[in-house]
Amino acid sequence: MKRQTTVHKLIYYIKNKTSEKYTEWRSITIDFFYQLFDLSERNPGINIIMLKTVGLNIHYKDKAVCYMNFNKKSFTVYLFPDNLLNKVSDKIFNTPFDSGWHRAYKVNTKEEVEALVDYLTKLKVVNLSSSSKRSRRIPTWVKEFVRERDERKCKVCGATEDLCFDHILPYSKGGLSDHPTNIQLLCKKCNLKKLDKLGLD
Ligand SMILES: [Zn+2]
Repeated sequence: MKRQTTVHKLIYYIKNKTSEKYTEWRSITIDFFYQLFDLSERNPGINIIMLKTVGLNIHYKDKAVCYMNFNKKSFTVYLFPDNLLNKVSDKIFNTPFDSGWHRAYKVNTKEEVEALVDYLTKLKVVNLSSSSKRSRRIPTWVKEFVRERDERKCKVCGATEDLCFDHILPYSKGGLSDHPTNIQLLCKKCNLKKLDKLGLD
């Protein structure tokens, strides 16, 4: 995604999610977003991804760092068992809470946001030009993310069994493996149907 588009989307997102009533928190959130963008520009290993339903997500190399949802006076950080932030999350965030099978934190102070930015700043700078060879393999963080986003159901028929990860634009036609926007959950039946159709083109 181009930086300009992303910034516009983010501003729109912030305006929707935060409130004028809580000016201070809104400006902390906006600052935080800009810092994230600076970070991802300086370190190509860091990826910031936004999806309407899921919120903002940070990835580093092949791993998810955390998933975040923004609210009027706070944001929520969700962690999966193998997310990078797990090891240090208790040092960064003050308020853990139980959100079902996720480990989660409610973040509502500037100090916590700064500590998170500090953590991200210290991640080793990755030069992608040497590691970004195109690959059919779907990275773990993309799978995790898509599984969540698609609610563990086939996108076509809603089946919950025999699921697989499908390249929306086929890999053979230039489709990406390392971005959730090109990956979806399909059941084997629907996947076969899709492959049949493609074969007929
Ligand atoms: Zn299906």
